[in-house]
Amino acid sequence: MDIKRNILLNPGPATTTDTVKMAQVVPDICPREKEFANLMKDLRKDLVRIAHGDPEKDTAVLFCGSGTINIDICLNSLLPEGKKIMIVNNGAYSSRAVEVCEYYGLPYINLKQDIFTTPDLLEVEKTLEQNPDVALVYTTHHETGTGLLNPIRQIGELAHRFGATFVVDTTSSLGMIPFDLHKDNVDFCMASAQKGLMAMSGLSFIIGDKELIERSKDYPKRSYYCNLYLQYSFFEKTGEMHFTPPVQVVYALRQAIKEYFEEGEENKFARHARVNRAIHEGIEKLGLDYVIDKDKESGLVVSVKYPNLPQWDFNKVHDYCFERGFTIYPGKISTTDTFRLCSLGAIDVNDIEDFFVVFEEALNESRINTPLK
Ligand SMILES: *Cc1c(COP(=O)(O)O)cnc(C)c1O
Repeated sequence: MDIKRNILLNPGPATTTDTVKMAQVVPDICPREKEFANLMKDLRKDLVRIAHGDPEKDTAVLFCGSGTINIDICLNSLLPEGKKIMIVNNGAYSSRAVEVCEYYGLPYINLKQDIFTTPDLLEVEKTLEQNPDVALVYTTHHETGTGLLNPIRQIGELAHRFGATFVVDTTSSLGMIPFDLHKDNVDFCMASAQKGLMAMSGLSFIIGDKELIERSKDYPKRSYYCNLYLQYSFFEKTGEMHFTPPVQVVYALRQAIKEYFEEGEENKFARHARVNRAIHEGIEKLGLDYVIDKDKESGLVVSVKYPNLPQWDFNKVHDYCFERGFTIYPGKISTTDTFRLCSLGAIDVNDIEDFFVVFEEALNESRINTPLK
């Protein structure tokens, strides 16, 4: 079968290999069969390995849903009675966590920070000092809306110094840049299959400390479908998800993880880095500007300012590129108009070179002369 190859420069779902796409075409199987439970068992072990967790102490709990389900689950399940959450918030994804707290009526501190740079660690420390009832510190590793990378190791160190559990949204970083659950002082990280692991959307997972999950057994129960302990205990008892898993998506993830280990962590990180460099080179050659300093950027998302020209029309440029197999994506910043070019997925430097040919054509089609500077 010949499947058209699209280059997705949006922040996930990412471009997948054909072998991952085709891995979904399997004989029908009831997910309550032992064969399927064994597959899930290996998958969970591999996910702990990818996060550099401890196979004895840590576990991976899978859920059917997009990445946001993990944010919901961690926040509603891991907060003891009478305690507070502190969200170190410098972007759209940590703001989403604030919204989750709002929806559940959870007590929280929204430690709002400048979205264009890393958080003020002294303020984090001071807030923890003044609020001994904070039991859960939450932040986002890579703020996908801007491309900013947060100093989670330092925030985690502070959280632990004040006796809090540290939960990090690693959805857009895990499997693409270095991350180590323990060295980075993280108790729970999270991601979904369609981002760093280059599989299909619909399957998400939380990786972290078994003991902390067991301890949450008696915490207030705020959701049924989205309770971490309930899903974990079902996995431990039966090896299966509590409710119907996305069967074919699980097969695709299994294939993607096989390819992950075949490519090798170091090689994969190096590939994403060179794709990111090629994006920077292309943008600089065209004379466009960034919003995040390069030394604060994740190396996975480049946020580009809209050219300050009346002819510039994002949708027009987007459509021109889309028709030719390249997807670009708007930014997620309310104060500045940006678009994003991401280096997720099964792509390499030659794809970026091909993209910039088309992108420059699109600009010229809009009567924008290049380079702009
Ligand atoms: C993609 C992403 C999510 C999940 O978004 P969904 O639309 O639910 O898949 C969560 N956090 C971050 C940082 C992300 O990049």
